[in-house]
Amino acid sequence: MKKILLIATGGTIASKHTESGLSPKITGKELLSYIPEAKNFCRIESIQPFSLDSTNVCWEQWLILAELIRKTYQEYDGFVICHGTDTMAYTAAALSYLIQNSQKPIVITGSQKPIDLPDTDARTNLLDSVRFASDDRAHDVCIVFGGSVIAGTRAKKERTKSYNAFSSINYPPIAVIQDKRIIFYIDDKGRNSKPVSFSDSLGQKVFLYRLIPGSAGNVLDVLMDRYDALIIESFGVGGIPDYGDGSFRQAIRKWTLNGKIVVMATQVPNEGSDMSVYEVGHAVKNEYNIPESYDMTLEAVIAKTMWILGKTQNRNEFKELFYASINHDLLFVPEG
Ligand code: ASP
Repeated sequence: MKKILLIATGGTIASKHTESGLSPKITGKELLSYIPEAKNFCRIESIQPFSLDSTNVCWEQWLILAELIRKTYQEYDGFVICHGTDTMAYTAAALSYLIQNSQKPIVITGSQKPIDLPDTDARTNLLDSVRFASDDRAHDVCIVFGGSVIAGTRAKKERTKSYNAFSSINYPPIAVIQDKRIIFYIDDKGRNSKPVSFSDSLGQKVFLYRLIPGSAGNVLDVLMDRYDALIIESFGVGGIPDYGDGSFRQAIRKWTLNGKIVVMATQVPNEGSDMSVYEVGHAVKNEYNIPESYDMTLEAVIAKTMWILGKTQNRNEFKELFYASINHDLLFVPEG
């Protein structure tokens, strides 16, 4: 029987109603008491490194989780992290970069309703997750939610209330779970023979600037001293506006001349960026040699930028790591 570690971190799945709204109160042990059937196919232990609404989860907790898994990696065959849904896609992406080439599955799950409610999705999601984490074919970081298994770098929370809250963006789900059956669409365990690797640092000074029509480019000058990397969430396949004052180009020039990282991404969730298409993107990309997201999710771009900044701020090294495909995050790898 597989030995699984349940890592409880809070979220709706573990929440109770209080006078001031839902708050995580249910422990990992209690969560397990709601899925007694799991004993039929695995042995589970639980641990609770923190108990937070995932609105309050950031790089600090991502590093705690990676370190906890590193320390217990040899003891268990798989890991199931119970987590709030609001920032789950970010945590899944961050752990995908912090823990790479894992032949053991690291499954993240949660729910839209607390586990103690009669109409909850929590029990199904938790049982599906434990079942998936006990499967020989499972590996690496993924989200199990609403019957779908999504690569940790490909998830996006697209619904605030429905039980199918997460979508797999620009990539098929790894598997679906129907009743007790796991149907794999991507069954590639063992294809990557590299040893598991753990990172223990992340750069935190990353700023995301979402463009709106009429945005002011000179705001970026003010931010430059406080951040190491700027991700610009552009329109469509990607471009930099010029409202006649050239302020965006000047700002990007200053950031790059000051050794900062500038990354282009898009606010359109599906199909990704390609700055070479339009003049508004092409010129800026070539002039400043800016990496772009292509088909990566915004959550993956943010987490990947933090992970790379934990290693280097050299722009060439940054670009090389940024375009390396990790846990299915990037299909389109540009030439040169
Ligand atoms: N606010 C909650 C959280 O992210 C929402 C959820 O878990 O569904 O922790």
